[in-house]
Amino acid sequence: MKKIVTVLGARPQFIKASVVSDAIAKTSTLNEVVVHTGQHFDPNMSDVFFAELGMPRPKHHLNIHGGSHGDMTGRMLVEIERVLQSERPDAVLVYGDTNSTLAGALAAVKLHIPVAHVEAGLRSFNMRMPEEINRILTDRISSWLFAPTQAAAEHLENEGIDPAMVHRVGDVMYDVALQHGSRVSSEGGLLGRLGLEPQGYVLATVHRAENTDSSQRLATIVDALEATAQNTRVVWPLHPRTRAILRDAGRLDALAAKVQLIDPVGYLDMVQLEKYAALIATDSGGVQKEAFFHGVPCVTLRDETEWVELVESGWNRLAPPDDAHQLVDAIRTGRGSIGRPVTPYGDGHAARAIAKKLAEMS
Ligand code: UDP
Repeated sequence: MKKIVTVLGARPQFIKASVVSDAIAKTSTLNEVVVHTGQHFDPNMSDVFFAELGMPRPKHHLNIHGGSHGDMTGRMLVEIERVLQSERPDAVLVYGDTNSTLAGALAAVKLHIPVAHVEAGLRSFNMRMPEEINRILTDRISSWLFAPTQAAAEHLENEGIDPAMVHRVGDVMYDVALQHGSRVSSEGGLLGRLGLEPQGYVLATVHRAENTDSSQRLATIVDALEATAQNTRVVWPLHPRTRAILRDAGRLDALAAKVQLIDPVGYLDMVQLEKYAALIATDSGGVQKEAFFHGVPCVTLRDETEWVELVESGWNRLAPPDDAHQLVDAIRTGRGSIGRPVTPYGDGHAARAIAKKLAEMS
């Protein structure tokens, strides 16, 4: 029996881990222990996903959140090292590109515990993004690099990573969309409670630091969504950080009068909102892909994206939040414009392929 310690802490990691933990549980030679760093701690940013996606409960809860990047990552490093010294796993599994990812990988590799990285090889080529730094460093010290796409595998090859360590398994978020997202219909649920008609609204999400930490970019997004709301309903599940920043900027009340602001929702409610939206405007990586999984056009509120295949195939268009008029135009013209049929994210069995690879460890 081999022991895997999974380190996670942020919303998209709970969602990704739901299918991988399930695949690990079905593998007779693997045993998983989950460590929750506490990076995301609100019940609707954390607990809800464990409950509705049937995740194993974390054995260790580190309760670390807030503070600067260095402060948060440093505290995680100290605590994760302690856990690894007591658990003595055969491998450490990390997801994506958050501070929890980097802290988990770094703590492990210094203890000579091999690291498995799910969602390896993604690149924005923008080193001002904290996520880009976290992913590059995590990839460099990982022993299993599970690349979701062809582009991700190519980035790793270009960086000189040993191809034997790179496994192009597909995207676990596609697995989640198929396994859990398919349960969702337009009847009832949040759509009913909010009184939304299918294809009768635009769904927005905003949480990337490049947008929330720039008052100019955030104001441009708010202006554009307020303008869009004059013609169509706009629903915006607000990330707690974005809500706090908007409140401090004095924009929350006027925005709430025009746009339907709601608290973050669980995965199944989110899928329902995504599936029946006329268009999704987002700076989220996961939501860009889910738009495609559910056949909904997407406008990405960023200068670049890691998910280039969706831009190339016409499902997604980049709309850097520099000019509100251009943003409104991108949202207006994007409606109804779907892309070419492509299958860049695997066959929906990425999690099984990851568990199988890990089970082969000697
Ligand atoms: N999500 C959710 N509820 C929300 C907003 C997002 O369940 O209110 C889900 C979304 O469906 C996707 C994931 O969270 O699966 C994306 O996470 P996030 O946008 O926080 O991070 P990113 O993907 O940008 O790393």
